[in-house]
Amino acid sequence: MLSASALNLTLPSPVMPFSPDWPGADKVTLHIKRDDLIHPIISGNKWRKLKYTFNQLPANCNHIISFGGGYSNHLHACAYLCMRNQLTMTAIVRGNYSHGLTPMLKDLRAWGTHIQFVDKLTYQKRADADYLSHLQQCYPTAYIVPEGGSHAPAIKGVAELLQETPHPFDHVLAPVGSGATLAGLITALKPQQSATGIAVLKGQGYLEDLVSQLLPSDCTNTHWRIEHQFHGGGYAKASAPLTAFCQTFTTRYKIPIEPVYSGKLMYAVKQMLQDGYFANKSRILLLHTGGMQGARQS
Ligand SMILES: *Cc1c(COP(=O)(O)O)cnc(C)c1O
Repeated sequence: MLSASALNLTLPSPVMPFSPDWPGADKVTLHIKRDDLIHPIISGNKWRKLKYTFNQLPANCNHIISFGGGYSNHLHACAYLCMRNQLTMTAIVRGNYSHGLTPMLKDLRAWGTHIQFVDKLTYQKRADADYLSHLQQCYPTAYIVPEGGSHAPAIKGVAELLQETPHPFDHVLAPVGSGATLAGLITALKPQQSATGIAVLKGQGYLEDLVSQLLPSDCTNTHWRIEHQFHGGGYAKASAPLTAFCQTFTTRYKIPIEPVYSGKLMYAVKQMLQDGYFANKSRILLLHTGGMQGARQS
């Protein structure tokens, strides 16, 4: 696989002090880990999650198959990496966009990705053993990456990001979709540190299970939790206040955020500061996981 420098990645990603004029923000110290700056396409946590997947492909593999929605940051990153590494890519996409490709799918087309649109019921089988073994039989030289790239190699890649963050912190916060990013952060915590995930979809209980299943058995840190009151009604649901918040935030702090992941994280942090969620003088690290491509309208 091409090296980070051949791919022009910005690593380590910068860590920036953040001093918003929000109630309660003056009582703590905030930094943002700008993984959104790693690369415009292999954005944020998707690089962290795919690095070891691509570095450890089986020798006979010349093809990647993966899954996602029509705006998926994961498919976008994965397809770009395949194009750059001369691997065939098949994207199994939930829903039929053949008569109106999203900006993400237009990029995939341009990069030569094979796109298979499947209905909701087929898509639901994306993690079923029978379905996957059938897929593997159809494409014997393919390596099948789960939705979001969320499997064991992803945990290792995410954990590295805290090793490149010299700033001491007490809490790290990140958005939670499939849970691999949070799981990776948890594995890299020091005993006195804690991680809080902000759920971007409705999944109380379910998301905790996903994270627990992704944690390696030797991981003993239990200082983590997921906050469920900030998903705003579900995945990719953006209320008018959330959209407005993202625009104001982007203009005022010169850090682009979008309503699906990073916007929900920042919105939550603002609320939590106001509610006194963090002890005085807490050192807080916010992980900007990227994902701006998904917010493109055209
Ligand atoms: C995929 C994604 C997430 C969710 O990460 P998980 O590891 O699936 O929880 C968060 N932020 C952005 C920008 C993403 O693209």
